[in-house]
Amino acid sequence: MTGNKQVVVIGSGIGGAGIAALLQSRGHQVTLLEKNPFYGGKCSSFVKDGYVVDSGVHMYSMGPRGPHGDLNRRVGGDLEWCVSNPMSDIISSGRVHMLAYQNQFDPRGLVENLKAVALDRRIAGEGERDAAKRMRLLEKETYRAAKRMRPREVLDAVVRIARRDEALLTELDGITLQEFAHRVTDDLGFLGTLATLCMVLLVVPYSMAAAGEFLWCYASIYRNRSLGVPRGSAREIPGSFLRAFLRAGGRLRLGCEAARIRVEGERVRGVESKEGEFFPAEVVVSNAGIKRTLELAGEENFPSEYAAYVRGLRYSYSFITAKYGLSRRVVDVGAPSFFNKPHVHPDHMFEYIEQGGVPEDPLLFVPMPSEWDPYVAPLGRQLLIMGVPGPSEVTPQNVEQCERILDRAEERLLELFPAVKGNVEWSMRTHISHTAAITGKPSGECIGLAQCVGQTGLAKPSCRTPVEGLWLVGTDAGARGVGTEQAAASALYLAGILS
Ligand SMILES: Cc1cc2nc3c(=O)[nH]c(=O)nc-3n(C[C@H](O)[C@H](O)[C@H](O)COP(=O)(O)OP(=O)(O)OC[C@H]3O[C@@H](n4cnc5c(N)ncnc54)[C@H](O)[C@@H]3O)c2cc1C
Repeated sequence: MTGNKQVVVIGSGIGGAGIAALLQSRGHQVTLLEKNPFYGGKCSSFVKDGYVVDSGVHMYSMGPRGPHGDLNRRVGGDLEWCVSNPMSDIISSGRVHMLAYQNQFDPRGLVENLKAVALDRRIAGEGERDAAKRMRLLEKETYRAAKRMRPREVLDAVVRIARRDEALLTELDGITLQEFAHRVTDDLGFLGTLATLCMVLLVVPYSMAAAGEFLWCYASIYRNRSLGVPRGSAREIPGSFLRAFLRAGGRLRLGCEAARIRVEGERVRGVESKEGEFFPAEVVVSNAGIKRTLELAGEENFPSEYAAYVRGLRYSYSFITAKYGLSRRVVDVGAPSFFNKPHVHPDHMFEYIEQGGVPEDPLLFVPMPSEWDPYVAPLGRQLLIMGVPGPSEVTPQNVEQCERILDRAEERLLELFPAVKGNVEWSMRTHISHTAAITGKPSGECIGLAQCVGQTGLAKPSCRTPVEGLWLVGTDAGARGVGTEQAAASALYLAGILS
């Protein structure tokens, strides 16, 4: 696309904010329309009683070295990162703690790993044992582990191959992670870790996730070794892109909902707002999601096979949250986030979601933003944001199920850290209705399109649509990666095509 085109971007999520900043910096005249009175979509934050709280629950798998950092540098943004090592504490069986380090081969991490495997297998559920016995078990397990290649090392080897061989990755996109994992090992501890990680990274059970996509994401984390959060909370990522956009002369209209994308003679002409204002454009980029974009542009303007294909696409599951402002630093686990890894058979870990049930031992994903960046909470206080997987579609039954899941998740949190209870200054829940209200969709899915077999890699929807001049950006089109990083990568990819 040669310079100085009139462009309208719909939506200020990571994808929309990113592409607006990139195109404006390359000399185009960009207007960004955002229906909400705030920017950032699912990656936004708000202030409550002096705490800066993420609307979702976020950690960023590649921090400054991933697409967020790349995009920020290209537009001259002011984004800063907080990266911590160890990056997380993984709790299994309620009492086995394992610190995860940025470098997978960090000797401290390997020792932690062995310790966790040993204690998890031998001690959980067998009652209290004395410290000497734990040490003997640990030594025995370490000796055994050293005698053979562990499944995790096998996986690492495969990932290394996959990182260099696109054809292999594409092949692995055709099978589920569950199928791939069962081919490699029958070790339940290892499979459990994989099932947990898959839900955290792709927000689909490993029986649905595309193996190639998961391995790409997993390998990228350890290749970049900079998992972290932006200084100042989630909103600073789109905030940095938008500040660069405005400095370069872009126009941002908050509270301006696109009601229709005008298409005439098979080409896009501009966007009409809900209030009846018309924004003419040669290029329209939509961050509203592929399904909503089709509605906005009118299904009749697309080939019927394309419309049917889009209707058949699936969304990810949701992460629903409980957030706590604590009057003192209650949780001290040696890392700025922790997970509760469920003690449930990996093949059945998330069946409760489709069955309308509640997990006995829920997966908890708990970043503590104030551990990374003390300025997001008042002095001496602690901010905890807990996420747990749930259904996506907003129906009365699912909303009620979300509340029950959160009841159990909050109970589990208190079992792990009883001192939380007496130190709560405030707490709140957000779930699928809140996420759906942010995006304007009928579902409150976490990611966007599910990264399942048939929807990733070569099979991922393209940013290009059959309508000339109409493009997609965000998690629904064009890129691989974890959540927000997929959206930023999509913006970088699209800017490459359009500039
Ligand atoms: C609870 C939760 C936890 C998460 N955890 C993580 C995590 O740890 N790490 C991670 O990387 N990702 C995480 N994600 C996922 C991540 O937040 C999303 O995948 C990503 O932010 C989506 O970005 P996007 O650009 O595709 O669009 P969205 O964020 O969906 O933004 C779309 C924007 O378009 C606007 N819009 C829609 N329709 C219109 C219209 N008609 N007119 C004008 N504007 C419109 C919306 O208001 C919105 O601002 C999480 C998400 C949730 C909900």
